[in-house]
Formats: sequence, C-alpha cells, structure tokens
Amino acid sequence: MNPNAMLALDLEKITAAIASGTRPNQVLWQTEDSIAFVARGREGRSEFHVDPSDEVMYMIKGDMNLHYRTPEGEEKIAVIKEGQIVYCPAGTPHSPRFSPEAFVLVLERTRHTGEDDRFTWFCDKCGAQLHQSVKHVADYREDPVSRAYEEFYGSEKNRTCARCGHVTPRPPGR
Ligand SMILES: [Zn+2]
Repeated sequence: MNPNAMLALDLEKITAAIASGTRPNQVLWQTEDSIAFVARGREGRSEFHVDPSDEVMYMIKGDMNLHYRTPEGEEKIAVIKEGQIVYCPAGTPHSPRFSPEAFVLVLERTRHTGEDDRFTWFCDKCGAQLHQSVKHVADYREDPVSRAYEEFYGSEKNRTCARCGHVTPRPPGR
C-alpha cells in the first residue's frame, strides 16, 4: 500500500508549516492516479496554467480570484471564498490569484506519459501572448510553477511583447 494511504492529515498544521517555511507549497500525496497539494498565494501571479487534468480547488483560508480564459479568449474571474470549492475543467487556462496569507488545497490527476502542462503569460498592454513554458509534470515536488516563473522573470526577452514592445516588470522581490 502507498505509504500515504489512510493517513489523516491536518490542514491547519500543513498551512502553518508552509507559512513558516520557504517553499510555497507542500505535496500531501502523489500516487499513480492522483496528486494533492496545499499552496499559499504567490505575489504577482500572472501566468495562465493549462492543465491536461481536471483540477479541484478548495480554499482552506482566505479568498481567491480565479482568473480564467474562455474558449473565445475572454478573461473572466471566479471568486472562491474561504470554505468554498471549485471545479476547473482540464484544458482551461486559469490563474489562481490570492495572497500569501491565503491557502488552497488542490487535487489533480497524475499526468500520463507524454502529457504536458503549459504556463502562458500575456501582455498587460495589448493582450498578445508573451512567453509559454511547457513542462511535463512528472514530480510535483520539483515545483514546476516556480521553475516557470524563474524562466519568465529571469529573462527580459521573455517579458518583452513582440507586438507592442511593452516589458512586463518584475514584481518586487523577484
Ligand atoms: Zn503587447
């Protein structure tokens, strides 16, 4: 049996551990079929994530503005309040924006061989696509979201709009 099986986990203890640590998330389990992790909000979260798996998000503490893009390319916001849960269908570009003092529980399906996740940034000024990071998420403990942010903020070229020339600034502290 998986070593994480039948282990009751205390979400309050997990959020406290994340709040006092350096890593913005903690993986609860990762098995052949499912992944569960708790994450705090990221300052300046700006990219849209396209997950080949459905996602279920439950706000443990605080509220989230879940930005998403419709198939027509329109940006919308679903507000998920503390204690509320939301289903985000596979393939929906979404950007979970919430404060570092807020925490979400996320449930996903383990990726199949050959499935990739996409992390895409759009220009604030004109809406053109800026940078897209494509990753095969084999092990969530490698923190693929943080790696994608390093690529984006680490390169002025990745942040420069080919259409209008606007350069997306780094948020403070990056
Ligand atoms: Zn632009």
